Amino acid sequence: MIYGKDIHKAYGAIQVLKGVNVEIKKGEVVSIVGPSGSGKSTLLHILGTLDKPDRGEVTMNSTRIESLTSKKLAAFRNSNIGFVFQFHHLLPEFSALENVSIPAWIAGRKKKEVEAQAKELLQILGVAHRLNNKPGELSGGEQQRVAVARALINQPSIVFADEPTGNLDTANARELHELIFDLRTKFSQTFLIVTHNDDLARLSDRVLQMKDGLIV
Ligand code: ADP
Ligand code: MG
Repeated sequence: MIYGKDIHKAYGAIQVLKGVNVEIKKGEVVSIVGPSGSGKSTLLHILGTLDKPDRGEVTMNSTRIESLTSKKLAAFRNSNIGFVFQFHHLLPEFSALENVSIPAWIAGRKKKEVEAQAKELLQILGVAHRLNNKPGELSGGEQQRVAVARALINQPSIVFADEPTGNLDTANARELHELIFDLRTKFSQTFLIVTHNDDLARLSDRVLQMKDGLIV
């Protein structure tokens, strides 16, 4: 599903990625672990098409990412990829239901269909009772569940998550892990997750260990 070849990335004088090769198969849940500063987020952003490598290539669903115009890339991203970050980045002015629906509205999908699906996702994620609340009225765990629902609304084939449980207490982190695995079983989605959480890493199909800009 994703193929990254010889990925290099530098920020100024710092060579952050030094020739990463990686392959992710459809339906896999793969964790990326490694010390802070080892390049995990940088790699996730490049594989997730949010950032470009200085050298090397990324292929996703048989599409060479570098070959897309920025307009085509935005459309590709919106329909193929979901993101979950450590800080949820929900829009404070919008309700949980609206936050989940926004990527689908951008994709031009029918409002009725979107609403039904957003409700279903919020139900699966255990926050159906918070549909009309704004992010500021939700607990950290609830906010992160809404962010996961938003990542899934366009039925992306792959979800990238950067320390999705980094801000949650142990009980909430564990529940979110279990939900991620339920979702994988239900929708056969592929997950690539940067994590410090050993539980999440242990549950994955594969763990990639990063060190000094390489997968070791
Ligand atoms: P990790 O996620 O493993 O902690 P990162 O990929 O975030 O590591 O960062 C790797 C290195 O790249 C760090 O030294 C970090 O300071 C640097 N870095 C990351 N993003 C930027 C940026 N936008 N500009 C400059 N340096 C950056
Ligand atoms: Mg990081």
